[in-house]
Amino acid sequence: MITPFQQFVLKVHSRCDLSCDHCYVYEHADQSWRSRPRGISLQIVDQVAARIAEHVKQHDVRDIHVVLHGGEPLLAGHERLAGIADALRGALDGICRLHLHIQTNGVRLDDRFCDLFAEREISVGISLDGDRAANDRHRRYASGKSSYDQVIRAVERLRARPEIYGGLLCTIDVANDPIAVYEALLELGPPRIDFLLPYATWDTPPARPSPTAYADWLIAIFDRWDADGRPMPIRLFESIARTVKGGASLSESIGLEPSSMVVIDTDGSYELVDSLKVTYDGAPATGYDVFLHTLDDVAVHPKTREQQRGLEGLSDTCRRCPVVRSCGGGLYTHRYRDGSFDNPSVYCEDLFKLVTHLGNATKMSTHAIPYASLDALATGFGDAADIELLADAQRSLRRALIAALRPLAPAGVWELLTDLDTHHRDVLESVLAHPYVRSWAVDCLQGERQAGPGGRTEPRSSERQAGLDAGHAGQGPVRRGMGHVERGADLAGRGVEQAGLGVERGRYLANVVAAAAVRAGRDLTLPVVVVDGAAYLPTVGTLRGLDGDSVTLVVRAGRIVADAGAEWQPVRTLASGDYSVVLEDSDPHRDSHQWPAAGRLDEAVVAAWQASFEQAWRLIEKEYPQYAPGLRGGLSTLTPLAQAPPGQDVSSTARHAFGAVAAALPDGPATLALLIMHEFQHVKLGAVFDLFDLYDRADTRLYHAPWRQDPRPLEGLLQGTYAHIAVTDFWRTRRHTVEGAELEKAQEEYLRWRGHTLAATETLVGSKALTALGERFVGRMRETLASWPVDARR
Ligand code: SF4
Repeated sequence: MITPFQQFVLKVHSRCDLSCDHCYVYEHADQSWRSRPRGISLQIVDQVAARIAEHVKQHDVRDIHVVLHGGEPLLAGHERLAGIADALRGALDGICRLHLHIQTNGVRLDDRFCDLFAEREISVGISLDGDRAANDRHRRYASGKSSYDQVIRAVERLRARPEIYGGLLCTIDVANDPIAVYEALLELGPPRIDFLLPYATWDTPPARPSPTAYADWLIAIFDRWDADGRPMPIRLFESIARTVKGGASLSESIGLEPSSMVVIDTDGSYELVDSLKVTYDGAPATGYDVFLHTLDDVAVHPKTREQQRGLEGLSDTCRRCPVVRSCGGGLYTHRYRDGSFDNPSVYCEDLFKLVTHLGNATKMSTHAIPYASLDALATGFGDAADIELLADAQRSLRRALIAALRPLAPAGVWELLTDLDTHHRDVLESVLAHPYVRSWAVDCLQGERQAGPGGRTEPRSSERQAGLDAGHAGQGPVRRGMGHVERGADLAGRGVEQAGLGVERGRYLANVVAAAAVRAGRDLTLPVVVVDGAAYLPTVGTLRGLDGDSVTLVVRAGRIVADAGAEWQPVRTLASGDYSVVLEDSDPHRDSHQWPAAGRLDEAVVAAWQASFEQAWRLIEKEYPQYAPGLRGGLSTLTPLAQAPPGQDVSSTARHAFGAVAAALPDGPATLALLIMHEFQHVKLGAVFDLFDLYDRADTRLYHAPWRQDPRPLEGLLQGTYAHIAVTDFWRTRRHTVEGAELEKAQEEYLRWRGHTLAATETLVGSKALTALGERFVGRMRETLASWPVDARR
């Protein structure tokens, strides 16, 4: 399989008007620039554009970046640069979105250049190492003269033309004061900053006054930037923040994604990344050129392949490293030692310290899940330990949400909460873990005026087939929202702004606190929220027969002192052997599913649920033992839905209710087992989504799901596909346990769901909107499905 190129560095001029002593083009091992033409010809540019067009069409690449580079690209002159941009746009218009950039030292940037860049939508990046002292340390003319004043003039021109101001690129020198560098760059109002570690290898190591001088230098800037409220994006920091959560890096110097960059020199030769010039003479050369070779040829070139091996291509040390998923072994060039790249980065100690520091600052990163667990979940299963990792992350997420609610807490409630957290943390945690506490907290923070208190997901249904049911229709688009703590913080801000609604909903925090006080055996007198005549305390029970929208709850030694006329109804559970779940029919926030929740159940219906659950769980333990440990570790709550429409079984999960599965009571325990297994897949994947970016969230396209008439967003398709692994497995296994007509039914359903689900994995991969981690995840899903036979019954 080819990794298509998406970033093209086009060398438009091979010489430079500065003589920076840290430049990798002229000052290091590779001296190939000496034999290159000075400027690129338009004939070569036309051929480059044709090659790119051919490549992006072949691989359905929708967005590409072309960086006009050098040497110093402005030396190409106004007309030539205009001609180059026009040739590229002309050839690629209508084929893909072309993002054109130019990276320059800036000393020649005049108004005429700015005009032509604005006309041709070319974003301009300027190389600048900080304040005057920092810049003049390296960025000087051959005469030794400073370039600082010219560069600052160029930046000021760009500040007056914000539509073309792309940002600043700063090469690090630890001899410079990091804060002075940061402040100098900040003052220039850049829309983005890149920090570049000096090009170095183990053979030519960087100047290093202390073992982690580069990490310390960058951490000083990170801490200041963080304290400043992150006034502009810094690509290196953003990349680490994304990769520690499993997202895609924004930079080739961090992360495990295969490089999608290729360089094209002024003579039309293809090269690998420029930085390789510091390793050995000829290192970036491929021997290929735009006239004789396609970009596909370059993509399968052994040197390209070698750089795209991800984790497998790293040294043993890196593969065992706990931060490898973020660091990725650093820049390929920095691994070079004595003819080999099979080493950690020469900046290894710096990268380890930097990633760890930024990871701690990016709170959810403390819940990074090992590859082994993520792979186990990706197969469609996951044992108790894997689910516990997800549950741990959910715990932190809930705490972040609750913390964000502080401004909305009724008087005195926050103090009670923190007191319980100090003296009865486990009890408080188990109340907060009730699935609909998160639904409520998100609802509060979003402050949305929705019909129900919890906010519903889109429709999902299962149409009953003859005999045992299950035409599962897949998951509707799950509401985006509290994927990460950072989003929680955003929502917290919005929630406070919309304090009218948020404060009203925030009153329910008193019920949460009261529930914990009851369970902790504490005394308490506290007004709590009443909805429809009932005050609900999550995981504890409901006081019914009340008037108004509030009641002062009196708790003595953990017992509720109820007024005459009020009735206390404890939470009920469903049990099978030593496993039990809450039967949630009272929480006012449970109505966050697509189907309306059932009201309080009478005893006969509870008995029917109990009988069905007991048998369903026994069936799961006996026939589907690979699902039982995960369910036992993560499924805490069953929420009855209102009766299903005739001919349908209905079941649902709510995106923010980790641990809850909702269903209308189906006809038989086998169907209940199927619904539980199916819906718990959504619970697991939702928790994975909270931790990792598996797909491009900006992708708004709709995709065919074989089990539905209407096309689905990518997240919905991924959710449905993951859930149907369990559906397929249910029928696969059932073929071994039933006979006669039921067997025929099981065989038919198995083949149907296997085909549908496998086809959906192809659509997911074909979308090209999965992250590297998403591709790995879906790859494991597909392996599971493909390993199941298509014909044999047993
Ligand atoms: S920190 Fe060092 S050992 Fe770990 S992945 Fe990066 S370069 Fe490799």
